[in-house]
Amino acid sequence: MPAICKLARQRLHWLGLSVCLLTLAPEAAHSQDMREVRRTVRYLTSRHLHGRGYTHHGDQRAAAFLARQFKSLGLVPFKSAAAYTQPFPLTVNTFPGRLAVTVDGHKLQPGQDFILAPESAGGRFTASVVYFDSLALGQEGARQQFLAQPLQAVALVLTQPDYQRIQAQPLLAQKLGEARALVILVPGKLTASLAPRQVAQPKLLVAAPAWPHAARQITLVLDACLQENYRTQNVLGYIPGTARLDSLLVVTAHYDHLGELGRHHFFPGANDNASGTSMLLQLARHLSQPSHRLRYTVVFIGFSGEEAGLLGSRYFTAHPLFPLDKVRFLLNLDLVGTGDTGATVVNGTLHPKEYQLLQQLNTGPASVGPLSARGRAANSDHFPFSEAGVPAFFLYTRGGIAAYHDVDDRAETLPLTRYNELFQLLSQFLTHLAH
Ligand SMILES: [Zn+2]
Repeated sequence: MPAICKLARQRLHWLGLSVCLLTLAPEAAHSQDMREVRRTVRYLTSRHLHGRGYTHHGDQRAAAFLARQFKSLGLVPFKSAAAYTQPFPLTVNTFPGRLAVTVDGHKLQPGQDFILAPESAGGRFTASVVYFDSLALGQEGARQQFLAQPLQAVALVLTQPDYQRIQAQPLLAQKLGEARALVILVPGKLTASLAPRQVAQPKLLVAAPAWPHAARQITLVLDACLQENYRTQNVLGYIPGTARLDSLLVVTAHYDHLGELGRHHFFPGANDNASGTSMLLQLARHLSQPSHRLRYTVVFIGFSGEEAGLLGSRYFTAHPLFPLDKVRFLLNLDLVGTGDTGATVVNGTLHPKEYQLLQQLNTGPASVGPLSARGRAANSDHFPFSEAGVPAFFLYTRGGIAAYHDVDDRAETLPLTRYNELFQLLSQFLTHLAH
């Protein structure tokens, strides 16, 4: 433990050192910038940060890193934020301890073979396996047979499509709750999420091909912990405008992710959203240099709780640290580590003038590829601001990797295809807005 902490401090020191070098040489080579970006993404996705969730201080370590960076860049903290942070409570189910699943003597691999439903309970037992009969969904005889079957001592196995269909039939859905455990066989990729509650039974999501054919017995050792009113934090600071102190541009990115899957596995969240967090830091680094300072004040916010339901941005818009009606524009960055097929701008259709500006700037060989505009969508932290009347874009890149909310969203395979081009586009966009 102490050795890990020491290593992390050295890394932070390294980051601080590179910042100074960049500040002295603003025209630093492109490759040097990308080394810096890679270093940030590697740190945020490292084991030391435990998937930036709510166990083993994952979120707090990520927040401390961001605050250190803000301080070294000379960002100003808001008076009401202690050391760049705005604390808020959230309730979330977590899996920080033991995790082992054995089926007929065959051990399933966490992350690859199975994940946990976000609301899963823990448990430690061996149980026989019973398979759900799909006929019970439509045929009265099979349905009655299923409803009469005792499930308290068994693990019930069913396919994800059947599980979803059952939700429309309250009696069957209630019956599922009686099983000792549920094993849901997922036909496609495993995609994890978070829940603010814990149910009474363990619930596994198993990749269908990983489930041994006609298996008869399962042994489960699983710790689940509902973190109630856990204190997490948004991280924010600003660069004062040179002319218009009360007109704000806001750049946001969530730094949290899905946390741990037992003691030995975690969700790295490289694209989601170490990519956006690093872009936010690069923009802060650029705009904090005296020659690049904008006329408008630029606020940078790293949100927590996004994966748990946009909780950090919802909390912020309910408890803003600046008047929301002073925001000229907000730019939210989430999933910006690819770009083979361009980028999408959520809210692009709501703000045609600003979207047109983005398109005008996105030309020539250094473009990020084709842009496309979407309408309103509650899919990232721009949304609570949009609902509060703040003009905002949420930008994400397209193409590249398929990893999303899984253990494969790793720093080593994050392509950062159009990262530099996107950085240029966004810094120009902010500069134009401030004129
Ligand atoms: Zn996400």
